[in-house]
Amino acid sequence: MQMKSHVDNARDLGRGKKILGFDMDGVVIDNAELKLRVAKSLGINLSPMQTPAEIIKKIVPSDLLRRLQLAIYCNPMISIEAPLMPGIVKLLDDINSAKIPYLLISRRLEPSIAIDLLKKRGIWPKYFNESNAFFVVEPIEKNIKAKELGVTHYVDDETKILSVLADVPNKFLFDHLNVFPASDNYIKIASHEELAKYFLG
Ligand SMILES: [Mg+2]
Repeated sequence: MQMKSHVDNARDLGRGKKILGFDMDGVVIDNAELKLRVAKSLGINLSPMQTPAEIIKKIVPSDLLRRLQLAIYCNPMISIEAPLMPGIVKLLDDINSAKIPYLLISRRLEPSIAIDLLKKRGIWPKYFNESNAFFVVEPIEKNIKAKELGVTHYVDDETKILSVLADVPNKFLFDHLNVFPASDNYIKIASHEELAKYFLG
């Protein structure tokens, strides 16, 4: 049997020290139905497969997309209707049980509206609260915040976000509709059950 080097030992010790990061929209919250409904009210018929942020922006003209985004993320009456992504509560419970630190980094422009929604869905303050939820504006700020907090694993539903997370070693694309290609830059995940294998494994 081979002796373990100091480097191996250090790596083994470091291996247990995960810090998990979550994006909010498209990962914790499922806005797909809201997008379909608001798009329809603007005269655009979308399919569920066209609702991910990076797909919808190629289909909906920018002025209408702006109106759709304002309705879904900045109108408290509409935003509040979005449901949770299936499986997220079980995953957060299991992460809590495993005592692995985790946090939220979101680009919501109106954090108070985001927090009201998380409260309504029973997620705030039980799982996310002022101690582990962070709101930033630009994509690159997600990397700055993740680095500052020592995030080792981050899950997002946008490839462009994952592409700027240079300081996060493990990147996961939440793609429950299976509309994005595989990439060397991330691991594609179809559900929170599947994500649990990486976040808890
Ligand atoms: Mg998102």
